[in-house]
Amino acid sequence: MKRYHVTTFGCQMNAHDSERIKGMLEELGLGEAASQEEADVLVFNTCTIREKPDQRFAAHLGNAKVLKRADPEKVIAVGGCYAEAQRDKLFDLYPFVDVAFGPGTIPHLAEWLGAGGEAPRGRFGTGAEREFAGTLPMHRERRFQAWVQVSMGCNSVCSYCVVPAVRGREVSRRPGEILAEVTQLASQGVCEITLLGQNVNSWGRDLLPDVKTEFGELLRACNAVDGVERIRFTSPHPKDFRREVIAAMAECDAVCEHAHLPLQSGSTRILKAMRRTYSRERYLRVVDELRAAIPDLALTTDIIVGFPGETARDFEETLEVVEEVAYDGAFTFVYSPRQGTEAAAMANQIAEETKRERIERLVELVQRVAEARNRERVGRIEQVLVEGPSRTDPALLRGRTRRNVTVNFAGASAPGDLVDVRIEGATSTTLKGTECVPHPAIHAGPWPAITRRESPPSPLPRLQALAAVECGLSLGARNPEAGRHDWKGH
Ligand code: SAM
Ligand code: SF4
Repeated sequence: MKRYHVTTFGCQMNAHDSERIKGMLEELGLGEAASQEEADVLVFNTCTIREKPDQRFAAHLGNAKVLKRADPEKVIAVGGCYAEAQRDKLFDLYPFVDVAFGPGTIPHLAEWLGAGGEAPRGRFGTGAEREFAGTLPMHRERRFQAWVQVSMGCNSVCSYCVVPAVRGREVSRRPGEILAEVTQLASQGVCEITLLGQNVNSWGRDLLPDVKTEFGELLRACNAVDGVERIRFTSPHPKDFRREVIAAMAECDAVCEHAHLPLQSGSTRILKAMRRTYSRERYLRVVDELRAAIPDLALTTDIIVGFPGETARDFEETLEVVEEVAYDGAFTFVYSPRQGTEAAAMANQIAEETKRERIERLVELVQRVAEARNRERVGRIEQVLVEGPSRTDPALLRGRTRRNVTVNFAGASAPGDLVDVRIEGATSTTLKGTECVPHPAIHAGPWPAITRRESPPSPLPRLQALAAVECGLSLGARNPEAGRHDWKGH
């Protein structure tokens, strides 16, 4: 049997795309290889959000070149955002690459392999040629957790970001199709779903009137699916945290008490230059609204330091917001100029030395604040979804709380179990604890079973009706004719 190996760079969207790539290759009869060396088909699912992933990918491709030289029969495939960004020069830069495809043209790899390499060598695109990979088979890493893609692309114009150029404008997946996938996943034993979109909470705005649905309604509909115990979503944009979304988060028992709220900068002046469309004050108002509605909410964020023109005062304002919000965690980035973006052409770029000093100060503060937040959990009992053995101590188990914090704990449960863990220690990124004995099964014990609320009016019946039609259309057999705008005829 021929074997494949997929190397994934970047965000959760790429990780999810890789599950589809793997599923598709397995449907073609390939098995998974443990390493690049053992594989006949090497796939690189790339990222280009910052310079670092570009460099990591270049190092991997150097290795692939050596492998290909030793065995010219090996197929080297490059997909994802870097491939899309370099579409005009990819094959000149890397002539040993056999096939390339952008994030919206994933099925092209199967076409190419199925045609014995006779199909076009590259397929890219950020327009109508894009397809949701949701209809492809999927190779899930865990049987109890799943990502569900709800949209592709992004309509924002953040001046530092390359995503709109490589993933195109935002297109929402049809609600019935999403609900059908969630229902199917739940029937297969998935209890935690994460809805994925570049700007996940703006989902639905572009849907045609017949299927028009708000993101909050989608949360309510997923909440009503039997077997779904936890719902997460990422990445939301602060500008799209409307009242109805916050209300749905507060009222849906399965929606976890965690919001990722990318700040990027605490300075209104820099936010304006970034074209983020909110001010520091507006952002802090959203934080207040979220916390008022969901008192035990965990908040995480993304922050960029060293954006062009960022003064010492602007940076101090970012530190002030970190202290004020008291984030439970943050992804911190040094600004990286991306070719073709508005910010890369700005004259007032910041010296590398200054960026380094700022990121060090920011990381230190984020760690201090997050550790204090985690310490507040000591002595409490948290509901944990067991994921497997601890990465640092195989004698312990590892899992996640509803607030999305990793817990290493002593216990005897199996991956996929929802258990109570008494929290006994905390660092800035993890908690430590002991499983409460006897551990409760999903619907027993002190954690109340998920109750399906009926008020305000549930959008479920309408979405279920859509899902019934979408199921016929899109689950099981793939229907290449089914586009977002062809709803009316069905
Ligand atoms: N759509 C999400 C949002 O609006 O926050 C984030 C998507 S992006 C894949 C993830 C994060 O990468 C961003 O939130 C930002 O902090 C960071 N990022 C994007 N472009 C960057 C750049 N040019 N330099 C440094 N960090 C960047
Ligand atoms: Fe990039 Fe901004 Fe879109 Fe996020 S919202 S993907 S940062 S353009």
